[in-house]
Amino acid sequence: MSAPCIVQSVPPPPEGGVWPVVIVGAGAAGLMAGVFAGRCGVRALLLESRPKPGAKIRVSGGGRCNVLPSVVELDDFATEGSRNALKNVLASWPLKECRAFFERDLGIPLKVEDTGKVFPVSDDPAQILDALFSELGRNGAQIVGGVRAEELTPLAPEAADGARFELQLSPTARVRARSVVLATGGLSLPKTGSDGWGYTAAHKLGHTVLRRYPALVPLASLEQRWAELAGISLPTTVSALRGEKLLGARTGDFLFTHKGFSGPVVLDQSRLVTGPDHDGVELAASWLGLGPAEWDLKLQKGGARSVLLFLRDLLPRRMVSLLIDFARVPADRKLSEMTREERRRLVHVLGQCPLSIVGDEGYRSAEVTGGGVALDEVSTKTLESRLVPGLYFCGEVLDVIGRIGGFNFLWAWVTGRKVGLALAAPRGET
Ligand SMILES: Cc1cc2nc3c(=O)[nH]c(=O)nc-3n(C[C@H](O)[C@H](O)[C@H](O)COP(=O)(O)OP(=O)(O)OC[C@H]3O[C@@H](n4cnc5c(N)ncnc54)[C@H](O)[C@@H]3O)c2cc1C
Repeated sequence: MSAPCIVQSVPPPPEGGVWPVVIVGAGAAGLMAGVFAGRCGVRALLLESRPKPGAKIRVSGGGRCNVLPSVVELDDFATEGSRNALKNVLASWPLKECRAFFERDLGIPLKVEDTGKVFPVSDDPAQILDALFSELGRNGAQIVGGVRAEELTPLAPEAADGARFELQLSPTARVRARSVVLATGGLSLPKTGSDGWGYTAAHKLGHTVLRRYPALVPLASLEQRWAELAGISLPTTVSALRGEKLLGARTGDFLFTHKGFSGPVVLDQSRLVTGPDHDGVELAASWLGLGPAEWDLKLQKGGARSVLLFLRDLLPRRMVSLLIDFARVPADRKLSEMTREERRRLVHVLGQCPLSIVGDEGYRSAEVTGGGVALDEVSTKTLESRLVPGLYFCGEVLDVIGRIGGFNFLWAWVTGRKVGLALAAPRGET
């Protein structure tokens, strides 16, 4: 459905040649910023390089849009910035109220699944998008589809008509604005339009853009052996270790792929090997979520059965042969007759199996981009730049990522709303 607020060319500005607000990017964050600015009487122009806005919402959550989590903790998010700043921003729109916005204000029934993820009952992302478009349209906002911001120039000194920025667009057009919001997303899944332009624009205006990295991304393994298991999925704890030190562990579904590993638990832990502090970090798997001590106990209780038959009752068949091979234990060895060294090797492969990561599948497959515009350079009250008055940031362009489960949309909704409200508030009142 094509919403009335989406147009294909830049409309004339509402007053004196200047837009009060131009939002670059009509993804989750930009749309929410437009909605809340509009609700407070500020008419926004949204620029979107894709002909259809909200491409990432359409493909999200396996095509069903995991719009929110059902519970949120600070540890569900990662940033190099201040945890306190992160906490304050998240607290500005409590999860319950955010959920009520979708259910009550937009009229979209939501459901919580066993995983704790929240989806629209319809399983249809278009329902979310259409409701946001309608809400925007009601408040006089317009989205120009198929128009890319190419250059953002601050006007100094501020022009007599109040314009503080000029944006050069492609195809050819120029717009002037009092405030500009960069809601341009990250670098992940570039075919949805997020190609990193916002980082470049922020950097040119003096902002620190922290090293970007693919996050929530499938990982590649050094060892070919795992490719034989492609398609197998099982519950697993994935631990991140630096030497003997445990940096973090998570349990969830683990998936073998032709290149290495994926599944929610791998995606969640991926930032520890792709992120800023990855030197010397190794990942290890505890199959079925059982650590070395628990596997050791199980093997001790296995009695006179062979290693092969015992493990076949617990793990997928293809996997059992490979693990036994990896541990260099004869498959027909009775558990009770294993040497101490064989038992040690088997327990290691079952309870703390090294995954030997050599890389990741890159932005093509990553769900989000870690790093980005430093949180410490924006006001946590308004998300306005501390360096360039009138410039705002929301969503993934900022240096905050969430784990799998609706946390990245939550960040986009919360920050989008915060910016929208700030744009409407008289200066100094936010
Ligand atoms: C496959 C996939 C599935 C996902 N599933 C989920 C999920 O179920 N739940 C969840 O919480 N998160 C999910 N995510 C993550 C989530 O989609 C993002 O974190 C979220 O969309 C970020 O919102 P955003 O508005 O900041 O950026 P984006 O959604 O990326 O929007 C940025 C927009 O800006 C536009 N843009 C960029 N540069 C310019 C420019 N120069 N001029 C004009 N327009 C520009 C882009 O075209 C884009 O539309 C998923 C991500 C992927 C890739």
